Formats: sequence, structure tokens, C-alpha cells
Amino acid sequence: MKVLKFGGTSVANAQNIKLVLAIVSDKAREEKLIVVVSAFSKITDLLQLASQKAAAGDESFKDILAEIEKKHLDALKELIPVSEQSSLLSHIKRIVNHLETLLDGCYLLGELSSRTSDTILSFGELLSSYIIAEALKQNLKNSSYKDSRELIKTNNHFGKAIVNFDVSNELIVDFFASNENQVVVMPGFIAASLDGINTTLGRGGSDYTAAILAGALDASDLEIWTDVNGMFTANPKIVKQAQPIAYISYQEAMELSHFGAKVLYPPTIQPVLRKNIPILIKNTFEPAAEGTYISNQVFTQSNPVKGITHIDAITLITLEGSGMIGVSGSSKRLFEVLSNKNINVIFITQASSEHSICIGILNSDADVAEEAINKAFEVEILQNKIEPCIVEKNLCIIALVGENMKNHQGLSGRMFSTLGKNNVNIRAIAQGASERNISAVINERDVKKALNSLHENFFEENTKQLNLFVMGVGNVGEKFIEQIHQQKKFLKDNLKINLRVIALSNSRKMYFDEDGISLKDWQFALETGELADKEQFINNVKQLNLRNSIFVDITANESVSKTYEQFLKRNIAVVTCNKIACASEYDNYKKLKKLSQQFNAPFLFETNVGAGLPIIDTVKNLVASGDKVNKIQAVLSGSLNFIFNNFDENNTFHNVVKEAGVQGFTEPDPKIDLSGIDVARKILILIRESGYKMEIDEITNESFMPAECLDTTSNEAFFESLQTHAAHFETIYKEALSKESRLKYVAQFENGKANVGLRFIPKDHPFYNLEGKDNIVLFFTDRYVDQPLLIKGAGAGAAVTASGIFADVIRIGNI
Ligand code: ADP
Ligand code: ASP
Ligand code: MG
Repeated sequence: MKVLKFGGTSVANAQNIKLVLAIVSDKAREEKLIVVVSAFSKITDLLQLASQKAAAGDESFKDILAEIEKKHLDALKELIPVSEQSSLLSHIKRIVNHLETLLDGCYLLGELSSRTSDTILSFGELLSSYIIAEALKQNLKNSSYKDSRELIKTNNHFGKAIVNFDVSNELIVDFFASNENQVVVMPGFIAASLDGINTTLGRGGSDYTAAILAGALDASDLEIWTDVNGMFTANPKIVKQAQPIAYISYQEAMELSHFGAKVLYPPTIQPVLRKNIPILIKNTFEPAAEGTYISNQVFTQSNPVKGITHIDAITLITLEGSGMIGVSGSSKRLFEVLSNKNINVIFITQASSEHSICIGILNSDADVAEEAINKAFEVEILQNKIEPCIVEKNLCIIALVGENMKNHQGLSGRMFSTLGKNNVNIRAIAQGASERNISAVINERDVKKALNSLHENFFEENTKQLNLFVMGVGNVGEKFIEQIHQQKKFLKDNLKINLRVIALSNSRKMYFDEDGISLKDWQFALETGELADKEQFINNVKQLNLRNSIFVDITANESVSKTYEQFLKRNIAVVTCNKIACASEYDNYKKLKKLSQQFNAPFLFETNVGAGLPIIDTVKNLVASGDKVNKIQAVLSGSLNFIFNNFDENNTFHNVVKEAGVQGFTEPDPKIDLSGIDVARKILILIRESGYKMEIDEITNESFMPAECLDTTSNEAFFESLQTHAAHFETIYKEALSKESRLKYVAQFENGKANVGLRFIPKDHPFYNLEGKDNIVLFFTDRYVDQPLLIKGAGAGAAVTASGIFADVIRIGNI
């Protein structure tokens, strides 16, 4: 004989019930079955709500009742032929009338006792089991119905009654000894006290009903049919990458379910464990999937961690004070107080000094517990020997579970460093003596991030998920997204980096998708987004609180550069091609670098100098390896280089600058390039990265531009002024020709001083042959004394800048 239990979603409506009937009919061909069913999905919640409303004098309980009635009548009508419906429909109506009488009673009395509550909640299973039993009889004549209340007897601890196994087992065995039916359908969750009062086995308790029956009857199997493919490595609703666990021991399954894996009600394992009956967890909606097999075997596979779970709505209560030390019995008293109030303690840690003890309980018990504990220790509190207890609500316990964890070192270290790297603050830690479980208490808002990063670390072959929030999708941004789209698979396969773009924003719109934006048609998605709002963007990023979040700034906007601090403080990395932050006051630059270190959030800006060329990374490596940069000579403006390489007797200065803009080689405001500010910012950043302290106004900027051009306030006026001053630029050009030199805008740092300006470069100089929009940097260091370290290549352009940003993102992925 087998016991099959079908959960709420499996029997949510007629359509699902048909799947259940097919599974049952199929299995019934081979052996006798007991089929235990839950209430239709959400019905128990609705019953609870209706009864609470009724007791509170809120008449809307009637609407809920009507909804409950309709759901059941609809299902029945679809499952039973019309010719046979009438007596069944009136039976349902009778049950609902009875329920209505009870709810009316609560309404009139303004009261809901736990005893009445259990009776009201029992209607969910009574209705579902009746309908399913009748529907089954349509196909399988040799099937029947049995009310679990007649077989499962409990004490009268309403809400979560304790089963009397002696009495129940005997009743169950007796009944089935004389029952000839191939299938017996029974309601889960409900039972009765010895004197016949309705009780329930606790929320989620239908699993337990099935296990009690399986245990009493020595069933060959207990099958729990639910809405997922088994017990997963983590809750699949929260961790998308979670996988079903094929085999797991009773102990591990028990530990996982105790620590929040809702797929199995924790007490379920006890009755079957004693008899060594395996539990199979199966998916009603995918019966071919293997599911999870729970038995007494311990499988020593390579991964000692079997699963990761969590329990939310936890409160941590800490009792501390010198009065606790050496006084035996403090903890005994504490636990007695809680036990007297029926409060379940989920988590305990005690400092070895005995100075403090810390317990985790449900939020819903917190107020009662606080009052009771403070009362029990009133005398010590008055004498200042113990502090009034400290209560921290809205926390969450996360736990790693695995039988084999005890044989592996370093798992807790790995767990805590993973959490630490993701800036998840750990409030308390406990490791069971069995070492089957390591648990930590964290803030509720970090749960998703914590579960996902732990899952990634322990189960996903070191694949690292990076979550990008991209602001600015102009020329460079567009190329950046194109490159990600193209490389996504390569990164996953070869670098084990799973790159996802979670948000995109331009100046008009912003769009978020927590599951990753499809990069095929991102422009369309962005258009459908909400209006761009920087503050809201930041809030969303914080709220989502995803692991390995990276804010990517592809704007040239000062106000965006001021947001970095907020991100870094939240352990969100910043990658930027926007130079403003790093070229702002030295203290601000330093502060950002410090925050990056403090909050373990990378702050990378390789593209601030030389677009995609690895210039900053090289300086960093020189400095880190103990070298010292003494002198820098560089042509750092791809735009100015392009301009002076193309400016000759055939092209006016005006036209060349215009063309540079069209090709995307200048900043949106070309004055920033032509004034030399952009170059000054770049050399400043290199100087700072080399370890020197300098401010932008300490850099001598010898401008070649007429003041009138620089004073213009619009691009239009600026270009006009270039035409007006055409002769000025021609003179410069002619001077260069006469000196057989080429014009280069050079940045220089030496002896602690820096300058930028247009220079006449003679033929024999390494800068002379710098073509197109190339950049060149010469580093003279303690190690590179005569022959400088030279980096040269395209230093402007959307594609190379995008690839520089991309490289920074990958650097983060490789950390
Ligand atoms: P039923 O109504 O069938 O009893 P439950 O809702 O009680 O179903 O349990 C199944 C749900 O448990 C899943 O849909 C899933 O959201 C949740 N769950 C939590 N942790 C796990 C886990 N580790 N493995 C599988 N499911 C889990
Ligand atoms: N219907 C009950 C509940 O929702 C029992 C169960 O589904 O297992 O808690
Ligand atoms: Mg359940």
C-alpha cells in the first residue's frame, strides 16, 4: 500500500484535480492507495481571514464565504456529470451553511476561540476531500471516502494538536484491515480530540496526516505530490538557479524543512522514519520528473552542502548582564518562561562568557516574550545585574544544511565570507552540535541576496552572476550593450560569469527587469519604461539589493558622478567612463576610493584615460608592485589628436572640429576637449593613481584657444566663433609647418608639477607619428628609467570606450 498526498496547488481547481485523478487512477492499477488531500489552494487562508473578520465585526466575511462557496461549486460542476450533480451540490451547500452558522456565531459573539478557529479551518479539507472523492468515484468505482477525524486522534492543543499515536495507529490499522477499496480518499490537516472535538495539525499539516497513515500501515512509500520538482537546493521561488535534490537523508530533509523548506511540513518525517518508509516528493504538474527521494541512506557525494534555507519574520532577543555570569539556571529560567507561554525557540547562541544569551523566535511571539522575560528577571533588572532584554525584529535565519558538512573544514568560513563580500550583515551565528546545520541571523531585506550568493558559491560551479545597472545609453552605452549581448555566452562558458543587465536609463526613460533585460530588443523595452528619475533609479537599485550589483555610469554628467558614494556604501560596485568624480577635489576622489575598500565595492574607471587602453590598470600594477612613477608624458586627447592630424590647408579648423563631433570623438560639449580641461583631468587622474596628491587648478593649462571662443555658452555659438577666428588657427598651423613640426596637445608631469598645452613636436620625437585619434603615454619610473613604459593606441571612439568599460566589468567578475 502507498500513501499519496496532494497539496493545495495540486487541487486548486477542476483542471488540476483532473491531473490528480489521472495520477491516482494510474497508480491504483498496481496497488492499494490512500489519497490524502489538502484544501484547495489559499482556502485555509481565506477561512482564517473570514473568521478573523467575523470576530472583528466586519461583515465582509460574507464575501469571502461566497468566494469559497463558488470555488467549490465551480469545481464540482466541472468534475461531475450534470445528471449526478444535484445531490452533491446540495451536500456542498449544506457544508457551507454549517460554516456560515459558525462564522455568524463569531460575528455575533465578537470572539474567535482557538477551538472554533480549528473547526472553521477544517472546512477547507472537508470540502476538497469530498469533491475529490466523488470525482474519483466517477472513474474508479472501487474507491471511497474516510474522514480523518475518525482515525487520527490528538490532544486539544488547538492550532497544532499533538497526535496520540497509540490510539490513532490502532484506529487506522483496524479500519484499513477491513477496508476493501482500492483507493480511500481522506482529508489532510484535520483530526479530532479523544472527546470528538475538531483539531488541526498545524498549517501545512496535510503532509503529516499522510505520514501518520503511512507509518501506521507500514506503507511501502509515502508520496508527497506538490507544485515543484522535489526538494530543491534552495527555495526555487527565490533562487532561480536552485536544482531539485535527487536523494537526501531523513535527517537532512528534516533539517531543511525545520529551517524553512516549506515543501515538507517538518513533523512529517517522524512517523515514517521509525518505519524506514521512503518519502518521494513529486510534481503533480510534471509527473515524469524524478523528484526527491528521502530515505535513511546518507549519500556521500562531493558537495557536503545539501541545501540552503531560510525562515523569515524572526526576532532576536538578547538577555545580558553581569548577573548572568556563573549563576546557574539563568538560561533554564529563560527557557521556562518561553515554554510557559508556548513560544517556540528557533535559534540559540550563548557567549562562552555566559555574559549574554541570545534567542531567535517568531516576530509574532516577540511582544509576549519581551514582556514575560522582563517580568521573570524583574529583580535582577531592578538591581542592574541584567539589562532589560534587547529586541530586534524583522530578521531572518538562513541555514546551510548537509549531513556531511561535519567532515569538511572551512564551510562556515566560506559561508560567512560569501555573506561578508556581499555586505550582508550577520547578527548572530549558531552551529548545531550535529554539524548538520550552520545558521546565521541576518536582516530580512538581505535574504534574497544572501540565499542567491550562497547558492552561487556552493552549488553553481563558481558561476558568478553580475547585475548591471546602466545609466547613459548614447553612442558608447549602445556599443557597450551590443558587446555584452554578443559576449554573454562566451563569458558564461569560459569565464563562468553570468552577466545580466537589470536596468537601463537614458535622460528620458528608465527600465528595470529583475530577471535581466533581453538585450535583443532593449531599445524597445527602454521606451516602454517609466520616466527617468535619478533618485528613483538609485532607490530601485538599493531596493532590489541583488548580489554583485554594478552601477555603470556612461554619462558625462556631474550630478550622476555625485551618486557614486551612495552606491559604494551599499556594496554596489561603480564602473564609470565619466571623469568628473576622479578629477574633482582630491578629498572626494580619496573618499570614493576609501569607501570602495571599506564596503568591498570595486570602483573602476579605466576609460577615464585613453578610452579602452589599459593605462590606469598599468599604473595600478606598477604602484602595487613597488615601482614609483617619476614622470609622465602623454598625448591623451583622441579628439585633439584627430583634430590636429586633420587640420591642414585643405580643411578649416571649424570643419575638422565639426567632423570630430560627428564621429563621436569629442565630448558632447567640444569646448571641454578644446580648452584642454579634458586632458588636464586625465593627467590629474594618472597623477593621483600614481600616488600623488594634486588638485586640478595646480595643473598649468596653456590654452591655444582665443578666450572669446571659450566664453561661448552654446555649441552653436562656439562653432560660429571658430569660424570668426579661423585666421588664429591658421597662424598656429603655419608656424608648425615652418618648424617642420606637428601639433600635439601634450600633458606632462615631472618633479611634482604638471602642465598641458599645444606643443610643436619635431620629427624625431615619439609623439610625431601619432596618427588619427591615437593616444600615447610614456611612464618614466624607478624601473623604467631611460626607456619609458609606453602605451599607445586608439584613445577615443565609442567601440573602444565601451570595451574599456566592459573590461572593468569583467575585472569585477574575476575578483
Ligand atoms: P503544497 O501545497 O503542495 O503542500 P507547499 O506550498 O506547502 O505545497 O510547498 C511547496 C512550496 O515550497 C514550493 O512551491 C516552494 O515555493 C516552497 N519551497 C520552499 N523551499 C523549498 C525547497 N527547498 N524546495 C522546494 N520547494 C521549496
Ligand atoms: N490546508 C492546510 C494549510 O493550508 C494544510 C495543508 O495544506 O497542508 O495549511
Ligand atoms: Mg505543504
